[in-house]
Amino acid sequence: MEEKEFVKELKEKLFRQKKNGYRRIDSEEEKAVSDFAEEYKCFLDSAKTEREAVCYAVRELEKNGFVEYKKGMQLRAGDRIYKNNRGKAVLIAVIGTAPIDEGIRLCAAHIDSPRLDLKQNPLYEDNELALFKTHYYGGIKKYQWTTVPLSLHGVIIRADGEKITVNIGEDENDPVFCVTDLLPHLANEQMNRNAAKVIRGEDLNLLIGSMPFRDDESSESVKLNIMNILFEKYGITESDFISAELEAVPAFKSRDIGFDRSMIGGYGHDDRCCAFPALKAVTDCKTPVHTAVTVLTDKEETGSEGNTGLCSAYLKYFVADIAESLGSNGRDVLSVSECLSADVNAAFDPTFADVTERNNCAYVNKGVCITKYTGARGKSGTSDASAEFAGRIRRLMDSKNVIWQTGELGKVDVGGGGTVAAYIANLDVDTIDMGVPVLSMHAPYEVISKLDLYMAYKAFSAFIAD
Ligand code: MN
Ligand code: MN
Repeated sequence: MEEKEFVKELKEKLFRQKKNGYRRIDSEEEKAVSDFAEEYKCFLDSAKTEREAVCYAVRELEKNGFVEYKKGMQLRAGDRIYKNNRGKAVLIAVIGTAPIDEGIRLCAAHIDSPRLDLKQNPLYEDNELALFKTHYYGGIKKYQWTTVPLSLHGVIIRADGEKITVNIGEDENDPVFCVTDLLPHLANEQMNRNAAKVIRGEDLNLLIGSMPFRDDESSESVKLNIMNILFEKYGITESDFISAELEAVPAFKSRDIGFDRSMIGGYGHDDRCCAFPALKAVTDCKTPVHTAVTVLTDKEETGSEGNTGLCSAYLKYFVADIAESLGSNGRDVLSVSECLSADVNAAFDPTFADVTERNNCAYVNKGVCITKYTGARGKSGTSDASAEFAGRIRRLMDSKNVIWQTGELGKVDVGGGGTVAAYIANLDVDTIDMGVPVLSMHAPYEVISKLDLYMAYKAFSAFIAD
């Protein structure tokens, strides 16, 4: 053998595979990648909030033979169940053939995304413009949320107890809303502020109207006109905002990005690009060996607190309930269970290369990203998966031809972040992060690769079937 050939082979044997995923799939799989993306885009456009994602999931689950779980229900292998947690999170299970004592395969993704929430007393008029006060939800660069079309989603609980569902700005005949920004001509002072203060929290006011009520000359006539429109449409009065959850999100639809259409631009990839593959994997799952449980959770972006977030007991209670139905108990089941915390990671961006360490960051098109630990400042806050569990997941991915990579969130001490991994690991479950790399994470318009999205689906499917 020639020396050159020998060196090449030795490199292949000893070095880590770093090839672009498109060099590693055939045309058949390339088609699967692009078909999967089409379905995902429909999901993204119709499920922009956690509540809408739950509605979508429940619809898909019922179509696929899942029934609503009631505590005490008799369960056996092959049963397909789900539990809707207050319309904002959903638990899904397919009962496996192995005794539940051998543990479950848990997939956890979140369905809330950064956005602007309306305050409880949002409506005001200033110089004959009507606006809504907002309080941003999750970690955002506030200046990015001005001058983009926004739609309004959520619910209002009226004084009479009636629940009104709101969705304005998605239909192309609907009006949209926006946060205004200062013209450059008059922005000298603003442009000298640091970026965190270019737009301040109290500047994120949603423009919602400008027309006075008929020939009324009194004050707050524009506000009156808006309230009158809302009363006629929804039967609500100003006090009803107090018992409402209204969320302003980008009004645009997801689109292919690039001449080659290899990427998807859209709002809320974090973490719907993991939630959707996780939902697909569990609905496509026939009877698995180990019981497959998928949770689509709320509140990750604000720290997972609250009864629809994963710091609460709702997941633990669900596992305990199904364990009991199958003659075991939740504690024993959780201790031998495994979890993929399905959340996104930052993709390497050549324009901002200096925040990432090139040997340890995720790249577009190099597959689903396995992240052993998250955290910041000395891994603070991470659950850090064991070498043993990382090894098991790596072997499994390779055996199922999943294209995967490893990456951590940025250079040491540049910043950091966390996922729900730690909260599930704290239940004594072996947990590791795995998800899709994202460009412009937490911006109104985020970007992912179709190949990486499909590999997440393949990875989650392999995991729950194992
Ligand atoms: Mn996330
Ligand atoms: Mn996030």
